[in-house]
Amino acid sequence: MIKTEHSASSRRLFLVSAAGGVTGLSALAASTLSGVAPASAAEPRSLPQPGRFPLKAISSDNGLEATRKAYELLAAGADTLDAAIAGVTLVEDDPNDNTVGLGGLPNENGVVQLDAAVMHGPTHKAGAVAALERIRNPAQVARLVMRQTDHVLLVGAGALEFACANGFQEQDLLTERARKIWLYWKQTHGATDDWLPPADEEIDPEVRQYFKRHTGTIHLAAMNAIGDLSCVTSTSGLAFKLPGRVGDSPILGAGLFVDNQVGSCGSTGRGEANLLNLSSYAGVEQMRQGKPPREAGLAVLRDVVRRSEPRLLDDQGRAKFDLKLYLIAKDGTHAGVSLWGPEKFAVTDAAGTRHEACESLYQREAKA
Ligand code: ASP
Repeated sequence: MIKTEHSASSRRLFLVSAAGGVTGLSALAASTLSGVAPASAAEPRSLPQPGRFPLKAISSDNGLEATRKAYELLAAGADTLDAAIAGVTLVEDDPNDNTVGLGGLPNENGVVQLDAAVMHGPTHKAGAVAALERIRNPAQVARLVMRQTDHVLLVGAGALEFACANGFQEQDLLTERARKIWLYWKQTHGATDDWLPPADEEIDPEVRQYFKRHTGTIHLAAMNAIGDLSCVTSTSGLAFKLPGRVGDSPILGAGLFVDNQVGSCGSTGRGEANLLNLSSYAGVEQMRQGKPPREAGLAVLRDVVRRSEPRLLDDQGRAKFDLKLYLIAKDGTHAGVSLWGPEKFAVTDAAGTRHEACESLYQREAKA
C-alpha cells in the first residue's frame, strides 16, 4: 500500500514568525498570526478567524482539482503547507499526468527521477528532494526533510534511503504510456544512432500527442484566513533529461519561494532559465518592493529574457522557451504570468474553482 500521509511529527509545533513589517498589511498579519499551527492536515486546529485574509489556493493549470482539495482543507483549518501538499499528492498519484510523480516522463535512460520542494511560510522552513527515484510522492518526502532533519535538500540515493526509512513504499513509476512515449523519443530523436523510426502505422495513438518534447510540473500555493502562506512544487522535470539533471523545482528561490509577510511565488517551465534568475525569489522581492503580483511576475519574466543567451532568443528577441510564474501577495491578490500565451492557471477561492488566464509577454499565433 502506498503511504500518503505521515504523522510521525504531527505533534511538532511550528512557531510563527511575526517579524517583518514590509507591507501595509504586515502589522495586521503579525497581530493575527497565532503561535501554533498543526503539523498534519488530519489534525485541524480551531478555525482561524474568517474574513481577515481570503482563503485561496492557486496552481499551475494541471492543478484544478488540487486547488479544490487544498481549499477544502484550508476551510477545515488545516495548516497551509499540509493543504498544499494534499492537493499536490492528487496530481503525483495521477498516472495520466505525465509531468509529475507516477506516470511522469523518464530521463534519457527510461528512469523516472522526481524533484520537489515545499516551503512553509509561518516558520520560514523548507525541505526538498531531487533526482528521487521509485517514490511517487516526493512532496511528502520533502516535508519530512523539513521536519525531521537539519537540512533542506536531499538528493538521489540518499533521498531514497531517507524516504524508505520513513516507510514510503518503492514502486516502478514508469507507466506503460510513459514507456511508449520514451521509446518513441529514443527511436526518433537522433539522426546518427542505430534506432530506426517506427512506421507511421506502428505508432501508438497515445504517443502521438507527445511528439513535441514537453515539460510540465505542478506548483501550488495556499493562503489561509490568518494570512499564512505556503507552497509546493513537484515535477518529473524535463522529459528525457540527462540522468541526474536537476531543474528549478526543488531549488528554493527558483521553483518556489515564500516570505510569509510578503507573498509567495512558484514556477513551471524551462528550469534552466529559472535557475539562472531565481525567479521565484525575484517575484517575492518585487512584491516586497510594492508591485502587485501581475506586475511583479511580468517584471521578473522581462529580466529572464534580458539575461538569456542569444541561442535561446528568436529574431525578434523573444524567448524560444516558456516560463510561468504563479504569485500570491499578502493582501490576497494573485496572478499567473507566462512568457508565452495563451496559458492558464488554476484557482480556488470563495468565488469557486476555475482556470484563469495568465498575463503573457508574447502571444502564440493561433493554430489554423
Ligand atoms: N521546471 C521543470 C524543470 O525544469 C519543468 C517544467 O516545469 O516544465 O524541471
